Amino acid sequence: MNFTIQNVLIATVNDYATVDVQVVDGAIAAIAPRLEVVGTAINGENKLLLPGFFNAHTHSSEMWQRGIIPPLPLELWLAQLYDFAPLDTEKVYLSALGTAVETLLSGGTSVVDHLILIPGKELETIASAVRAYKEVGIRAFVSPLIQDESLTAGIPSGETTALTHKPYFRSTAATLELIEEAVRQFHRPDESVSILVAPTGIQLCSDALFQGCIELSNQYNLCRHSHLLETKAQEKLAQEKYGCTAVEHLNRIGYLSDRTTLAHCIHLTNTDIAILAETQSTVVHNPLSNLRIGSGIAPILKYRQAGVNVTFGCDGASSNDSQDLLEAIKIGSILHNVTDLDYQHWITPRQAVEMASHGGAKGLNMANELGSLTVGKKADLVMYDLTSLSLLPRTDPIGLLILGRPTNAIESVWVSGKQIVADGKVTTINVDDLRQQLFQHSQWDTKRKSETVAQIEAHYRWVMGLNLEVR
Ligand SMILES: [Zn+2]
Repeated sequence: MNFTIQNVLIATVNDYATVDVQVVDGAIAAIAPRLEVVGTAINGENKLLLPGFFNAHTHSSEMWQRGIIPPLPLELWLAQLYDFAPLDTEKVYLSALGTAVETLLSGGTSVVDHLILIPGKELETIASAVRAYKEVGIRAFVSPLIQDESLTAGIPSGETTALTHKPYFRSTAATLELIEEAVRQFHRPDESVSILVAPTGIQLCSDALFQGCIELSNQYNLCRHSHLLETKAQEKLAQEKYGCTAVEHLNRIGYLSDRTTLAHCIHLTNTDIAILAETQSTVVHNPLSNLRIGSGIAPILKYRQAGVNVTFGCDGASSNDSQDLLEAIKIGSILHNVTDLDYQHWITPRQAVEMASHGGAKGLNMANELGSLTVGKKADLVMYDLTSLSLLPRTDPIGLLILGRPTNAIESVWVSGKQIVADGKVTTINVDDLRQQLFQHSQWDTKRKSETVAQIEAHYRWVMGLNLEVR
């Protein structure tokens, strides 16, 4: 559908301008004051139009466990997460719907779902998430989370003990075949669904798995995703496993590239940072998850100064425990003010918008098509209502949006020119139905115990130099 948004506020280099924006065949056709109306006229008065943001790292099915995992570091948190992961594809479908809706209603038009696969139902899991994203109409980068080592291999062994780990239940070759099949069935960038290669990280993946992913990425032109150096334990593990840093190793095997996005990136050396800049890899900053599971503060200001592309993610909803992208952008910007006395390095609201839009597009190899209000680019647009109570009184619209706490501020959202939010409501699915389904498929739950945490906690505490008292 073609349309023209009239008299809408857009950001210019250091200011704002009131313009009309024509959208024809899903792309931005013109941006200028007083344009001829093409298609439907949309009133943009007292509204701010921005390119859609990227929720560039999440795990949708974690939504089923938000709010319940106690304060634990990643390795123990993960053990608990997997002990209670949903095993039903209907739940995967519902949580993907929920993730899409929350992302849309907090400024995102794209979501990178590092999707946890149900063992034995891997393709069905992917199909369920893809179905949900297509129904909602959000742009989806579905990144099936794969590994070929069992969970305990992700914890450093320490100097004196050699732990043995159960072999992973699926072979490396079978895992790669699965991803190739997912690409054949679901990789449709023209229909707003892309498949990424997404080994979970060096902590649980062999070089053979990374190599296979590189080959698939080259063969099918797929973007690459992974977690990277989220915890101190992973930093230790890389030294044990490779005798060098994880970044040096990934660079050596060729995983880093201008279409590689790396979630977290907390424990990097200066050499590592230079490698990310040189390979044009993208860091996905997940500040809330990093705080929630105690991983640390990623040195985002250093990355920016070194020329590393950075964008934002919510991370899964059980390490956040929300999918509010604007919240992640706010915390991900101001968090770093405490790390650097020189306020000239601090992230401004406009820079945060640039990171959340252009930064995401660049990381996903779509900077020519997405990430800014530019004639010729796809119309992935978000229009904010500047008369929303949370954006008043009138000062600087982008300052209010990023530094404030916008509620009910999203008026309309379009993906490839298709409107999927109008008057602040998702129009493509029935959100009241979704609420009912989420309610019915869950119960209040306060007293569960993870067996795996009980098994591995003593070793974790020992190897991390903590006392041996077990909670
Ligand atoms: Zn993650």
